[in-house]
Amino acid sequence: MAAHQEKKPSEERKHKNTQNHTRTSQVQWGRAWEVDWFSLASILFLLMFAPLIVYYFIMSCDQYQCSLIDPVIDLLTEKKHLSDIWNKTPTLTYRAAGIYTLWVAFQVFLYVFIPDFCHKFIPGYVGGVQEGAVTPVGVVNKYEINGLQAWIITHVLWFANAYYFHWFSPTIIFDNWIPLLWCANILGYAVSTFATIKSYFFPTNAKDCKFTGNFFYDYMMGIEFNPRIGKWFDFKLFFNGRPGIVAWTLINLSYAAKQQELYGEVTNSMILVNVLQGIYVLDFFWNEAWYLKTIDICHDHFGWYLGWGDCVWLPYLYTLQGLYLVYHPVQLCAANAIGILILGMIGYYIFRTTNHQKDLFRRTNGNCKIWGKKPEYIECSYMSVDGTKYYSKLLTSGFWGWARHFNYTGDLMGSLAYCLACGFEHILPYFYIFYMTILLTHRCIRDEHRCFSKYGKDWKRYTAAVPYRLLPGIF
Ligand code: NDP
Repeated sequence: MAAHQEKKPSEERKHKNTQNHTRTSQVQWGRAWEVDWFSLASILFLLMFAPLIVYYFIMSCDQYQCSLIDPVIDLLTEKKHLSDIWNKTPTLTYRAAGIYTLWVAFQVFLYVFIPDFCHKFIPGYVGGVQEGAVTPVGVVNKYEINGLQAWIITHVLWFANAYYFHWFSPTIIFDNWIPLLWCANILGYAVSTFATIKSYFFPTNAKDCKFTGNFFYDYMMGIEFNPRIGKWFDFKLFFNGRPGIVAWTLINLSYAAKQQELYGEVTNSMILVNVLQGIYVLDFFWNEAWYLKTIDICHDHFGWYLGWGDCVWLPYLYTLQGLYLVYHPVQLCAANAIGILILGMIGYYIFRTTNHQKDLFRRTNGNCKIWGKKPEYIECSYMSVDGTKYYSKLLTSGFWGWARHFNYTGDLMGSLAYCLACGFEHILPYFYIFYMTILLTHRCIRDEHRCFSKYGKDWKRYTAAVPYRLLPGIF
């Protein structure tokens, strides 16, 4: 069955409460209604500079062998001008536009027109039609979970091409990387702008829209909660998963193929990056039904942050290690390679086990075993917009008794392993661990703020029972 963390409203213990004060308090959970100056400044900064950051990283590999410092030195010493760098940058090409259009159209086709068949023959896999969590207005959306199938079909075709059909070179992604960047940006901006216009004129569910009154905040963080076209084309599920995450492993394979072409071999560091990130991606699709209950789908609205982020930020910056290794092929000694593999696998084990413990606990409503024992938890309650009271539970045993976000800790250990595989010559491959640390620390704070608004004093009881966020005894 589906990975339900919340029961359906019809099944859940609920209680109608129409008092004004409860209506007012419940409206606070979910994405912010008011924008403070710091959030606004951060958003303006990201809107202006995030595309430039991505360009800078990719350009520095293309023109400066992945050195982040050399372009700055060249500009400061006037050895080069901005126009020199820009003029050397590959432009948008018809070929890249064709590849990208075909890629996105193929993923839309797989998402919309091929209902999941994997769950019919893969034991333990949860696919097909599944339900998401209760939204702030009490809606439970249905989703077609067929990401694993899309990933498998895409990769089978990739290998069939590489080893049998030879329609295109497996280095095609690397060879068109900057022209494809322009295509990804066009899609990212188009989809975010469309989602904004849609939320004003034809929202899927008007009650789940949030307008702060600040256009930039709304554009970035999204207005509609779950924008859809038709019954099944869900923007968040599609853009989060398909063009970006299905591509992640293909991009890495393309980098490995490029290493083979350039140096006649694929280094063990490239294999490590492909394997560790491949496990992470496959885990995402194996657990796509669980993903419906994560913050991205459950709490974030769909705007530029998710739309552009999924099209550009994720495929370009999450794959920097593989790109770096094309320019700097690192052959690790056996001890280092094994050490990195162990770190990555322990990180993955913590990440997966922690997420699984919460999923199992919520799905069985606490009727399960965590580390062989009955789970310990805190009972809590919250309200939806219509004044309906819901009951929920917060797990305080297993990894959830060690820290409030130990799944993030595991994720960070895995992220560090990818970076370490690249050695210590350059800082560029370490961007990922810096970024993930900031992202997940910010996420802890954002999530806890939302949970406090949602659960009130029950959340305080929980934080008293589990006082640390990421590292027991430290933070
Ligand atoms: P979580 O899976 O930790 O979900 C947080 C939610 O779980 C809370 O909002 C709350 O929701 C519920 N919850 C919190 N504490 C408890 C508890 N003790 N018991 C039961 N339920 C609890 O966070 P994310 O959705 O952010 O992350 C999911 C995974 O995805 C993580 O492993 C993370 O590392 C990974 N991730 C990876 C990213 C990447 O870019 N690679 C980006 C973001 C996440 P409720 O309202 O239901 O109570």
